[in-house]
Amino acid sequence: MTERLKKFFVHGFNFVRNNPQIIYTFFLVIVIPLAFVFTSEQFLKITRENQNKLERNRISILEETFALFAGDHMRDPAYLRERIVALGKNNETMRNFQVLGPRFGETYPVVASLNSGDLDTGSEVDNLSTFLLGSASGNPRETYATSYFIEGERYWRGVRAITATSSSETIGYIVVDLSMSQADAVMRKNMRNAYGLLGIIILLIIVMLARQARIIDYATLYQRLKEVDQMKDDFVSMAAHELRTPLAAIRGYANLLQGMKDIPQTHKRDIEMIDASARDLAFLVDDILDVARIQEGRMSFTRTEIDVRALLSSVVLTLQNVAQSKGLALRVEFSDAIPLLTTDEKRTKQIFTNIIGNALKYTFAGEVVVRADVKQNHVVVRVSDTGIGISAEDQKNLFQKFYRVKSKETEDVRGTGLGLWITHQIVKEMGGSISIESIKGKGTDFIITLPVV
Ligand code: ADP
Repeated sequence: MTERLKKFFVHGFNFVRNNPQIIYTFFLVIVIPLAFVFTSEQFLKITRENQNKLERNRISILEETFALFAGDHMRDPAYLRERIVALGKNNETMRNFQVLGPRFGETYPVVASLNSGDLDTGSEVDNLSTFLLGSASGNPRETYATSYFIEGERYWRGVRAITATSSSETIGYIVVDLSMSQADAVMRKNMRNAYGLLGIIILLIIVMLARQARIIDYATLYQRLKEVDQMKDDFVSMAAHELRTPLAAIRGYANLLQGMKDIPQTHKRDIEMIDASARDLAFLVDDILDVARIQEGRMSFTRTEIDVRALLSSVVLTLQNVAQSKGLALRVEFSDAIPLLTTDEKRTKQIFTNIIGNALKYTFAGEVVVRADVKQNHVVVRVSDTGIGISAEDQKNLFQKFYRVKSKETEDVRGTGLGLWITHQIVKEMGGSISIESIKGKGTDFIITLPVV
């Protein structure tokens, strides 16, 4: 049993830890309202205490003042009543004001009263008055007051002795009842309003939490989506990696067949096609693997001193046959002194092969010129073509992954839209920059700037 209880608590604890929104909900819906109720009750208690103090003082002052002159007028009930009525007019909470004569057996004769019906020969007093009258007769200089309830309404009763001016002998008493119903009603109304407001706030919090729960669902979904996306990336790079070996085998066998003497010329062209397609596929696989490396921050850079002049000449030489097959002129020009760059040779070659390759790919007549220059401690390579050009709108998206310009001229050109994204990432990683200047239909300039140090 204890084992099961322990399991239950551990499970509960883990559940709450994994779903912290439960704690927020608990705080918002339970703890904060409870704190509000507690504070309100405290406030109410303090207000009541202060109010009681005030009422006690009010009764004391009222009775003390009245007792001062009542001592001289005990034999003039009409005058006393006139004063009492005048007081009653100024005190709307006053429910009773009696001047009693000294005790006579079990009763006290009513000398004057706010309510004229009280004026009979003798008045039997209730337990509360008996107690207060007893206290007042024992200490004539004090007012004795206490609160009491009748049918749910709160009252204050105060009693004080009247002493003769000459002998300080007790010659009567003042009994005053003040109703607290008005003050209590205001207090009740305020509390009702406060609790009503609290109810509305709790309701709003619950509605907001319900919405929040939906957002949490989306967040979980987003997390899941990210995981699935990661799984997809992992799968793609694994598949791409696995494709490399069979592709190398296809290209190897194609080259072997190409070299055989007794293969007819028509078949040799077919074998060439196989090799070209396998090569395109190998480039695509390389691009996919580069994307994965960049995204996971795994692309390595081995810095060595490289001669840009030699590197560009070699790239241009390699691509010369592509230019020739399309009838394009391809040349490279250098300014006088190009300093050595300290950077990754393979990646630098990849940048220029891609940009010059693109210039040849998207140019159908004219020339591609590569110019290398030095500016403010940077090597600036400008690749200019007289190709199809790129509109200002397309230029904005060009460095996004998989972005390809869709137009009549490009529909037959094969590509993945990954080359420029990869090039941009590598250039950034090397501390350089890449920009475009292009007029649609006229040609494009790609400008690559790499820092010398
Ligand atoms: P791919 O060439 O495989 O489509 P890239 O990322 O290398 O992918 O290039 C993205 C797009 O940019 C290309 O599809 C093409 O529309 C456009 N582009 C790149 N270089 C040039 C250029 N020199 N002239 C015109 N358009 C170009």
